[in-house]
Amino acid sequence: MKQIFFYRGEWLSNEPMVSGPLQISFWSGSSVFDGARAIKGALPDIGLHAQRVVRSAKAMLLNPGLEAKEIESLCRDAAARLPADRDYYIRPMFYSTGQGVAPEGNDTEFVLAVFEAPLPDPIAGGACLSSFRRCAVDQGPTNAKAGCLYPNGQRALLEARDRGFDLPVLLDPNGNVAEFSTANIWIVKDGVAKTPAANGTFLSGITRRRLIRLLTQDGIPVEEAVLSPEDLATAEEIIVCGNFGKIQAIDRFEDRMLTPGPVFERARALYMQFVESERQVPAAAE
Ligand code: PMP
Repeated sequence: MKQIFFYRGEWLSNEPMVSGPLQISFWSGSSVFDGARAIKGALPDIGLHAQRVVRSAKAMLLNPGLEAKEIESLCRDAAARLPADRDYYIRPMFYSTGQGVAPEGNDTEFVLAVFEAPLPDPIAGGACLSSFRRCAVDQGPTNAKAGCLYPNGQRALLEARDRGFDLPVLLDPNGNVAEFSTANIWIVKDGVAKTPAANGTFLSGITRRRLIRLLTQDGIPVEEAVLSPEDLATAEEIIVCGNFGKIQAIDRFEDRMLTPGPVFERARALYMQFVESERQVPAAAE
């Protein structure tokens, strides 16, 4: 596997040991990360991923000490150091090295991990409704891509796998559709592409926002709406949208089989065209 790390000013080919049992980021989750991609040399929306990891750090009261622009150029530099004919996952992270009970002052460190990760299959498989929910905005740092939020999604994922599915759909605290465990969700109804309206309980992803623009520009009707579990049960298409798999189709929801449909096909094609355009001229930030 091809991989590279940036840690304390150096490029490393082996994983640096960044934590220990007394470090607060290890035992109580004072860490944030972002997930971006290099797809055969293109880094779609890398500027927005770099901005988000800085915002996430601040939301967790970590002191980032690096500007988004510097992170963006480290990510580009990392990709340039690896063979350009492959796909990589790009993970910039901030974490506290403190040993107390809360992050303090300047105890925040940065590490960047870039490792080979081929784009997954366009069909993500079957999905089911999870018994786990996203937490409310006053119950967790839902505005950050914080490590401490992820074990809940992991429990949802393992529950889904136990039931023979590939992905769980989590509801928000009000019982409306929120997202998959690590990706956003779209459904198609009467030809309209619908995605849950951002309400702070789930990550309004960079891929989700990019897709809203691409579909709208292409003349496909888009709605950001409150979606109920009933809407899922009657959807014509269900689409997964996130950095890791970009745009994927769900082929079964609970006991109902679904055929990847025209909106999925168009959304994926538009996103892949966008990736190609990023290879030449990176998109301006939002
Ligand atoms: N929700 C969660 C919980 C995620 O981890 C991700 C992946 N970052 C997403 C949604 C999709 O966001 P993005 O398109 O920014 O990757």
